[in-house]
Amino acid sequence: MDVNKNEQTLVLIKPDALKNSLTGYVLSQLSETHTGLLFAASKIVNVSSMLAREHYIEHDGKVFFSYLIRYLSGVVHYPDDPWKRRTIAIVYHGPDAIKKVREIAGPTHPHDARDQKPGCIRSLGTIAPLTDDTGKVVGQRIDNLIHGSANEVDAEREIKLWFKPSDIPPLMRMYPTVVASKHFYYKENRVIDTYEPGSLGIVVPGDIVWESDWQGLNEHHRGESASISMESLVAKYIIYLYP
Ligand code: GDP
Repeated sequence: MDVNKNEQTLVLIKPDALKNSLTGYVLSQLSETHTGLLFAASKIVNVSSMLAREHYIEHDGKVFFSYLIRYLSGVVHYPDDPWKRRTIAIVYHGPDAIKKVREIAGPTHPHDARDQKPGCIRSLGTIAPLTDDTGKVVGQRIDNLIHGSANEVDAEREIKLWFKPSDIPPLMRMYPTVVASKHFYYKENRVIDTYEPGSLGIVVPGDIVWESDWQGLNEHHRGESASISMESLVAKYIIYLYP
């Protein structure tokens, strides 16, 4: 890989890291001094199940999927305090950003992380039995503190899923944008262009939006088959409105 090529990657500091006061440690490990990477965007998110499902859509159907959704949305670590359910989402920017973050994060499973890369962030993760509704053990809980995009295709999808272009300084935006020329709202699994009571605003004319989102919104509005799911278009707007 060309080391001079700038990339962006999505990092999620997951709720177990926040609960265990490891946020500062993670940020320090990923700091510009250690990695040469710059912040391009950050936000604290009360992750909706819609956003968590879209983020981990590749794992849909696996035995641990529902756990993963409850984990990323903070339900596992803050069952009684919904307002504490937070994930910190960050875009890092710089040469080899994806590989550098994944190296510092380490292997997915904390036991592998401890064996293969002592000192990596995920070596501080925890493992516990994963049970179903009846209490039967069906697998393992893997609480591994941090997410880092796996490759450039995933990074683009994930950054667009979590962030609007306006969350990123103009000179650091890596993907094409357009200026919205009409309103779009979301209501009951529909994209509509006229406000109806109970609908949620997505864009207003003049907003800067990802070009791929704009195309998807128009396709959903026209009822055409779209290259992008409605949930992945609206999840990042809905986080500003309600859980
Ligand atoms: P990553 O890219 O290293 O995060 O790994 P994956 O994309 O394969 O998995 C995404 C996340 O799902 C992981 O970070 C874990 O939190 C979780 N995960 C992966 N495999 C398992 C598993 O077998 N059991 C459980 N409970 N969680 C898993």
